[in-house]
Amino acid sequence: MQFYDTMAGKKVSFESLSPNKVGIYVCGPTVYDYCHLGHARAYVAFDVIVKHLRYLGNEVTYVRNFTDIDDKIIARAAKVSRKPTELADQFIEEFHKDMDALKVARADVEPRVSQHVGPIILLVQKLIDKEMAYVTPSGNVYYAVRRFADYGKLSRRNPDDLRSGSRVAANPEKRDPIDFVLWKKAKPGEPKWESPWGEGRPGWHIECSAMSMEYLGTTFDIHGGGKDLVDSMHHENEIAQSQGANGPGTFAKHWIHNGFVQFNGEKMSKSLGNFFTIRELLGRHDPESLRYFLLTVHYRGPINFEVEAYCPSCGERLVERSGEEAGAETCPSCGAELEPDAMRKAARFSGLEEADARLEYVYETLSRIDEVLAVGKDPGGGAILSPADSMEERFREAMDNDFNTAAAIAGLSDTLKLANRLLDVPKEAPKDVRRRTLAAIRQGLDRVGGVLGLWQDDPSEYLVRHNNRLAEKMGLSPAEIEDKIRQRTQARKNKEFERADAIRQELLRLGVELRDGAGTTQWRIRPL
Ligand SMILES: [Zn+2]
Ligand SMILES: [Zn+2]
Repeated sequence: MQFYDTMAGKKVSFESLSPNKVGIYVCGPTVYDYCHLGHARAYVAFDVIVKHLRYLGNEVTYVRNFTDIDDKIIARAAKVSRKPTELADQFIEEFHKDMDALKVARADVEPRVSQHVGPIILLVQKLIDKEMAYVTPSGNVYYAVRRFADYGKLSRRNPDDLRSGSRVAANPEKRDPIDFVLWKKAKPGEPKWESPWGEGRPGWHIECSAMSMEYLGTTFDIHGGGKDLVDSMHHENEIAQSQGANGPGTFAKHWIHNGFVQFNGEKMSKSLGNFFTIRELLGRHDPESLRYFLLTVHYRGPINFEVEAYCPSCGERLVERSGEEAGAETCPSCGAELEPDAMRKAARFSGLEEADARLEYVYETLSRIDEVLAVGKDPGGGAILSPADSMEERFREAMDNDFNTAAAIAGLSDTLKLANRLLDVPKEAPKDVRRRTLAAIRQGLDRVGGVLGLWQDDPSEYLVRHNNRLAEKMGLSPAEIEDKIRQRTQARKNKEFERADAIRQELLRLGVELRDGAGTTQWRIRPL
């Protein structure tokens, strides 16, 4: 299999350090707030990368840390008058809630900085001993970037460029403006630990070097994270720390970076107030839709997240305004004031709406296949129809080519079409071939869905949940729909067919379509 290695600057063939064993470290979140789309993208991407490596038969050790000590956490905690550790604990919990909803599996190890200060101190001391770092009279420790010859290799920027480009105010403590902090002297009221250099806490970068070493050894297969971690020099600094301590050739063999999430209609999203949190989106769409949406774009490319604004009063679509008009805070159609909170609630996300529709299609296909397979007997082995016979192979090829989930998902559509043709027109194929093909498609989708983290729910449960959500969005009550269906069933029993039909028509006018099955009637929303 191949993937794009940021360090090599090209696609490389992957061979793990020891056969069928892969160690992977991914930089985790700094926990002081709810996760936004950028987090969802990174952790869904690496979740699939890990799942695919496992699907290929590797024993994977996945380490993803929590940054639970940081300036941002301390600042936020002070603002809301809470202890930094309490705030961090809360947002680790919230992170898990969001990731569980997105079916992002827990990493094998999820180390927290606050629990690894010991190994961090030892690593900083090692760097000081090797003269790769220095202690200032005030009790801070800095990494001496000029002492590390390979600095800038990953980001392809050299120290001189960085220095001239540096807009950071001169810090008289540093030997060079590009030196970065390994240990920060404690300020009053901040979390602090004893160290050989006085009380203080770790800088941001050192934790990843220390914790990857602790759980994966000095050299391991893959290091991952968002592209922003290259630009911010975080990964460059990790390399400098780890190789500075353990020598050339150590640390991560390969680097994988995921792309950004871009918000379309920047001005519009600005008036909507920035980012949407995962929590906010999951209140309106099935978590699986967000996961599907993220996976329809290759992990390295940018994702455009369309935010469509609607007037909360008249429902008119608000097209992007430009220039001075952008400051106008009233609806051009009805003149109502555009209040940001109400606008956020009225916003729509076309990408997630498309994902909803696509998932409904796949789950409906699965549900219908299950109905067919539930009766009759297994026809045994034999040929199955094309392209179902090569579905999994093509999926694997796409995934083996730099984890191309977009191509892998697109490659399933011809098989899904075949499934629907076989379901719609049973005579399309001999009975045993049809059944065997549908069974193979069902199993194949289960396996590839396991890698993607999609279609793992019971189809009928998913469809109930999905239709309830759609009904509520349209202002319909699922309980009332069920009640109408009961009335119709009773009318049919009483042979009052006109009344039964009137109920069906009434529901249809509301956007509710009925499907009569063996002894039951299912309903689904067909938006008008
Ligand atoms: Zn890191
Ligand atoms: Zn309006």
